[in-house]
Amino acid sequence: MESEQRALTGWGRTAPSVATVLRASAEELQSDRGQDALINTRGAIARGLGRSYGDPAQNGGGAVIELQPGSDPIRIDSETGIATVDAGVSLDTLLREIVPRGWFVPVTPGTRFVTVGGSVASDIHGKNHHGDGSFGAHCTALTMLLADGSTRTITATSDPDLWWATIGGMGLTGLILDVSFRLLPIESRHCVVDTQRVPNLDQLIEKMEASDHLYRYSVAWIDLVATGKNLGRSVLSMGNHATIDDLRELNSKAVSNPLDFDPPIFPDIPKQPLNVWSRNAVRVFNELWYRKTPKHHHGTESLTGYFHPLDMAGQWTRLYGRRGFLQYQFVVPFEAIDTMRTIITKISEEGHASFLAVLKRMGAESGGLLSFPKPGWTLTYDLPAGVEGLGPWLAELDELVLGVGGRHYLAKDALATSDVVAAGYPRLEEWKSIRRRVDPDGMWASDQARRLDLI
Ligand SMILES: Cc1cc2nc3c(=O)[nH]c(=O)nc-3n(C[C@H](O)[C@H](O)[C@H](O)COP(=O)(O)OP(=O)(O)OC[C@H]3O[C@@H](n4cnc5c(N)ncnc54)[C@H](O)[C@@H]3O)c2cc1C
Repeated sequence: MESEQRALTGWGRTAPSVATVLRASAEELQSDRGQDALINTRGAIARGLGRSYGDPAQNGGGAVIELQPGSDPIRIDSETGIATVDAGVSLDTLLREIVPRGWFVPVTPGTRFVTVGGSVASDIHGKNHHGDGSFGAHCTALTMLLADGSTRTITATSDPDLWWATIGGMGLTGLILDVSFRLLPIESRHCVVDTQRVPNLDQLIEKMEASDHLYRYSVAWIDLVATGKNLGRSVLSMGNHATIDDLRELNSKAVSNPLDFDPPIFPDIPKQPLNVWSRNAVRVFNELWYRKTPKHHHGTESLTGYFHPLDMAGQWTRLYGRRGFLQYQFVVPFEAIDTMRTIITKISEEGHASFLAVLKRMGAESGGLLSFPKPGWTLTYDLPAGVEGLGPWLAELDELVLGVGGRHYLAKDALATSDVVAAGYPRLEEWKSIRRRVDPDGMWASDQARRLDLI
């Protein structure tokens, strides 16, 4: 077990705090020495690969645990398609192991560089949420190290309270040691993707409502600086996993080795923070991005090109400059589509410009008491931190979101207040009482938990 004092931030590089970082395996943490190391007056919290944007994987003045995978970190039952994976394993490592064997993860976020533990703790969603739900919906068992020092394997039926408090519970109910979940069988390392330019928001909404059910994956990049008749113009991309027959028709070169999977790791963008952001730069970038997309294209894309394009530029967040950046993500119910229109209009006309903005329809809730996804429309949008007037301006958006029963994603949050979270998560008090039961002395704690009054 290694231990050092280190300053940590989330992916947005805002709000650093210094913690005692413990790099340890599950076995080490279960030993007396490990249990002693976890005792800290400011508590302890797990950290995966730090891909949440704000401070949920930080614990200033306390302990932060970087869980190291064990000697046999990925166990697959090829009869049932259930994998049991050590929580510290990244999706990148996992995919390198399972894709060549004909499996894919049931849910992937926009980067492979998250851990399985972080995927459960944030109950992550992907481009398939409208049909397949979130990561937690595919989990069958969790092994956890609890505040009383015991290690327990739980399921949704054996310990329903702890289960649903942990799925999406941001690491605050215990340390997840391993996760069992159903894999998705695939025939190739490609997807068949239909990409189309959509000239405005109304047409985008119409198209997504009419065709999402035909595709496993669907998401739209949206130009949030376009206004007037171009308001909400987008690039809609919808896909399914490619079968061998699809490859024969669309990509015959890939037929001979359909499951080869060895994506390159790309170099980081230079250390010097660049800050290329300005409304004009974004306008030019968005114009080019929209124009370069064919009006309609039907073809194959690799799993990495389709799901993880941002992984092709390591540490791209440096493009936002020294002050870092935020990602604002919320969901509003389907019936509140007019509010989504109002928000998109507001951002486009008066807002802080963004390169990266995506709109997606979400499906069923998983049951996690603090899980973010619920049926409705979700908008995700990056913006540089430290811009004057940003806080009050986002508070106006918060009001619109909460006014129609929407909520904000804790894995992306860096600025929310306890009131905003309480209003968005109606089962927060139930979650807190379960948490108090499993952790009466407040062993698990994070900067975010203190900021949002979760503990
Ligand atoms: C480029 C990019 C794209 C993204 N796209 C999406 C997306 O499409 N959909 C989506 O849902 N999210 C998305 N995210 C967010 C990301 O999926 C989540 O923040 C995820 O939780 C990060 O995993 P991590 O392993 O880095 O966890 P961290 O960020 O290190 O931690 C996140 C939370 O998980 C907890 N945690 C981590 N490991 C454990 C453990 N072993 N036991 C208990 N708790 C643990 C931490 O305490 C913390 O509360 C994206 C992030 C980036 C940077």
